Amino acid sequence: MKRDRVSDDVCVFTSTQYAQVTAGAVLTPSGAILIDTLPFPNETREIVDYLKSEGPRGIVRFVINTHRHGDHTHGNYLFPEAEVIGHRLCRETLLKWGEESLEEAKQATPQLAEVRLRMPSITFEREASIYLGGMTLDLLYLPGHTIDGIGVYIRSERILFAGDAMMPLPYFFWGDRDHLIASMQHIKTMELEHIVQGHGDVLLRGEIDETIDQNLAYLEDIYQKVKKRVDAGASERDLTKITVEKSGGSPIAMDGMAKQLHHANLVKLYRTLKEEREKEPPVKKARGRRKVVERATTP
Ligand SMILES: [Zn+2]
Repeated sequence: MKRDRVSDDVCVFTSTQYAQVTAGAVLTPSGAILIDTLPFPNETREIVDYLKSEGPRGIVRFVINTHRHGDHTHGNYLFPEAEVIGHRLCRETLLKWGEESLEEAKQATPQLAEVRLRMPSITFEREASIYLGGMTLDLLYLPGHTIDGIGVYIRSERILFAGDAMMPLPYFFWGDRDHLIASMQHIKTMELEHIVQGHGDVLLRGEIDETIDQNLAYLEDIYQKVKKRVDAGASERDLTKITVEKSGGSPIAMDGMAKQLHHANLVKLYRTLKEEREKEPPVKKARGRRKVVERATTP
């Protein structure tokens, strides 16, 4: 785990074991607010130890989950004294699928054996605020990567923890491309000093607009390319010809995982566009879709 300070009271922890996942802590005289946890217990325990060394400022009062995915929520159980906060749909999805996807993740990743599911006990719909030790954190709804995505805005520092609404390659396989575009457009209006992305590097003020513009261009590029293929009746296998490099993304981002995420984006778009076409008259029968269980370790 890598630890950085973004300001006197805000630090960021980045996993060195899985996909550069980030978590953060806001330290106040009345205790700490943790934003997400890291994928594996050993790294989240490093956060626990670090916060202990901060004394009363490091006593965790709240853990905020930016969305339901296991790489951000698996460490919740290591903060039993804290209240967990998330979007209403984060709790609902974890209630429905959490145990099943955690079991699946444990099978694939033995390091997760001790993880226990802990879901938000405080939820909200559009926005909420936390006031602690003189700091104000605004929680805002930022869907797109998933339907339950939220961001955490630290008012005095103008820092946004964007969750996976911002990551080195936009990723919407489990979510919705249009929502993701709207969330990024909203973030662009916020005049921020820093963005802590859900994965990868912290963005500084001077990089934010350009990064969001690149992300939006990538989402437009793949839309046009996939739509062309759907219109031409191409098969899903043809999508491999659309490379991440030529779509404006970096193949090495997130420890090389970007290629895989890019392909999943294409598949999602392809299926969505095909489904839309099939709904157009004359009405064709929609084929039954395979049930896909969302893996708890999905980024
Ligand atoms: Zn993630």
